[in-house]
Amino acid sequence: MYWINKLILEDCTYEGKMMSTNFDQISVSSLCEIIELLSPAIDDYLYVYDYLQDFYFISPHAAQRFLLPGNAFHDVGKNLRKLVYPEDYPKLRADLDDLAATDRCTHNLMYRWLSVEEKPIWINCRGTVVRDKTGKMLYMTGCINEIGKVQKADNLSGLLGASSLKLYLSQFTERFPDGYMLRLGLDNLKGINARLGIEYGDLVLQKTSECIAECLLPDQKLYRIMGDEFLILDFAGGQPAEGKELYRRIREKIREFIMQKNYEVMFTISGGLLRCEDADEISYSQVMKLTEFALDEAKRLGKNMCYMYCQDDYQKFLRRRSLMLQLRQAVNNQFQGFEAYYQPLFSAKERRLIGAEALMRFHSPDFGMVSPGEFIPILEETALIIPAGRWILHEALRLCSEIQKYIPDFKISINLSHVQILKSSIGREILAAVNEYGLSPTSVTIELTESGLLETDTRFSLLWSHLKAAGITLALDDFGTGYSNFHYLTDLGPDIVKIDRTFAAKAVSNEFEFEMLSLFSKMIHDLNLKVCVEGVETAAELEKLCQLPPEYLQGFYLGRPCPAGQFVKQFIQMEM
Ligand code: C2E
Ligand code: CA
Ligand code: CA
Repeated sequence: MYWINKLILEDCTYEGKMMSTNFDQISVSSLCEIIELLSPAIDDYLYVYDYLQDFYFISPHAAQRFLLPGNAFHDVGKNLRKLVYPEDYPKLRADLDDLAATDRCTHNLMYRWLSVEEKPIWINCRGTVVRDKTGKMLYMTGCINEIGKVQKADNLSGLLGASSLKLYLSQFTERFPDGYMLRLGLDNLKGINARLGIEYGDLVLQKTSECIAECLLPDQKLYRIMGDEFLILDFAGGQPAEGKELYRRIREKIREFIMQKNYEVMFTISGGLLRCEDADEISYSQVMKLTEFALDEAKRLGKNMCYMYCQDDYQKFLRRRSLMLQLRQAVNNQFQGFEAYYQPLFSAKERRLIGAEALMRFHSPDFGMVSPGEFIPILEETALIIPAGRWILHEALRLCSEIQKYIPDFKISINLSHVQILKSSIGREILAAVNEYGLSPTSVTIELTESGLLETDTRFSLLWSHLKAAGITLALDDFGTGYSNFHYLTDLGPDIVKIDRTFAAKAVSNEFEFEMLSLFSKMIHDLNLKVCVEGVETAAELEKLCQLPPEYLQGFYLGRPCPAGQFVKQFIQMEM
């Protein structure tokens, strides 16, 4: 303790030659002891370099971070050479040589050291050279800090940051205490920054952190974990309902702030709530992963709301994410895993095979056969439906041209997604492919589902009239689901209206529904359009639905979707 007192209490004017002579009496071994003593309390690295013994001593934790032979070593020149990022070594050497050649006493240099993983790490090394009365260098001592290190606290919001959260959580190894974690994220900071400027964005952040802080209970901790996200820790046994209530209070506080500002700025906040017991791995990274998922869900479900983590949803999310990856790989790998299935279509009157609908299948390496209901939305979200749709178009037209060798009027139906319409030149591609396989446009039916999106988009009406003019048959798919709109029938004038299975099935079991369906069917016929009934599963359904009467039939009872080879064997050779 004597030397610490001496260091702190003595007059420290040690600039240049004015340096107090007391420092040359401090032994290097005492400095090493002090460094060892202080190092657990300091993140930075304290060091002493003894010129006389050619000996270097640094805070012990530096040896775990940097490419050092240990925290105490001789042969300093050689070891520094290995430690310093090669490009920066000349700079350091020049500074050290200058110290030796002159009577300068301060060293202050930013350069890079190599980490134990041999990655360059920026450091700022500052030190004081202590000389004897003749100016001979005795030792240099000082401090090294990592310049690029994540800040522990955020001066804008006045809150602790992610690295402090990490440090705090690292004390828990077996389990987290009972309670919850609430991750909050501003819903539209980017927009505020863009519209009102970064300074205004900063003000919003600062006010948000104040609003949050005002709502907290004394035991709750608040961190700003990244740009526009905060994390509240309740390790005092808080219940999820209390977490939701806390979220509501914060949202209300923010609303008050917006009102005070006379609605100059509008923003909302979303929350992802995680019960501590739901963190199945006790680690910072797990906390970040699960709370990020919860917050993303809140945003996905419409923002300005709080979502509570649920293991089932998370498993579904993981499955979806991995499926997305597999679909992308399959598309990039010549569509390996994709398969086209074909379901026969029959004329209702003669029960004659008139064609087939191409239906996409995906065999996942991990999940086996996945239903289109699951993977088509993923393909649409990622726009992978564009290459995949192109692929099935070619598969189906090729098969159709093969089958036409035996059944010349065989027709093929292909489903189009609105994403293909909005984001690709699918019309031109269809007509080019029809040409490529030597088919007549009348052999091809394009099936489209009604959707509010399509109604208003001019690209949709352009495509529709383009295909119609070229002689392609157009079918309005899934009629009777969603918002069946008779304007579609009159405005678009499809050739065929496909009645969805749910509508057809209801009509079979309920007389009123059947009356309705008959009425629809009559109106469709009055418009000179044809009716196809989808999803006929039994003989009874077939009999009842034939009373409508439809022009075309499709359903498991008449034939299930199957691979091309099986389709040809089962339905074509039978016809031949
Ligand atoms: P969709 O176009 O309405 O296709 C008919 C669906 O009904 C098919 O489901 C078919 O297997 C099923 N189905 C046929 N008969 C019956 C029956 O008697 N009972 C029952 N319960 N179902 C029957 P799948 O193959 O699972 O396809 C589902 C949806 O995925 C399709 O509905 C379509 O919207 C979409 N889809 C499939 N392939 C493609 C494609 O290549 N491109 C696009 N854009 N969408 C596709
Ligand atoms: Ca269809
Ligand atoms: Ca359908």
